[in-house]
Amino acid sequence: MIRLLTPDSVAERVENISLDSLERDGVTGLALDLDNTLVPWHTADLSVAKRAWVNQALERGFRACLVTNSYAAYAKNVSRELGVPLVGGALKPVPIAFARALHCLTLPAHRCVVIGDQLFTDVFGGKMLGMHAILVKPIATREFFTTRFMRLMERPLLARMRQTS
Ligand SMILES: [Mg+2]
Repeated sequence: MIRLLTPDSVAERVENISLDSLERDGVTGLALDLDNTLVPWHTADLSVAKRAWVNQALERGFRACLVTNSYAAYAKNVSRELGVPLVGGALKPVPIAFARALHCLTLPAHRCVVIGDQLFTDVFGGKMLGMHAILVKPIATREFFTTRFMRLMERPLLARMRQTS
C-alpha cells in the first residue's frame, strides 16, 4: 500500500522535470494532471514555462495526455491550446481513469509517467496500473474542499517520506 503511495520522484514544478532523465528511464508517455499541476485550480491559465515544457516534450517525441476528473470547459481549452488529448471526467484514482490514459498514449504502463499534485489520486491511481509517478507541488492553495481534506490525509505520509529519503 505504501509503495503505491510513494512517488518515484518529486519536483517543485512540472517544468523542473528533466525530459532527459525520463528518456533515460525509458519513459516517453506523459499522463498530466490538470488542476494545480499544469494550471491553477479550475482555470485555463497556462504559464509560459509549462506550455514550453509540454511543447518541448512533444517535439522530442514524447506522447502526452491530460487526465482530469473535471468535465468543465477550461479543461477542453487547455487541451486544445497544448494540442494534447483530454481524458476528462476520469474519476481518479479509479483504475479506469489511467487505463483510458494508457489507451490514449498507446504505450505500456512502464513507459508512462503520471505527473500530478496529489498522492491519493494521481500517484496512487497511476502506480496501481504500473506507471511511474512524479509528485509536484500544487500551484495554488485555492481548491476543491475534498482536495483540501485529502491534503490533510497526505501530510503524515509526506513527512514519513522525507524522513526516509
Ligand atoms: Mg491536481
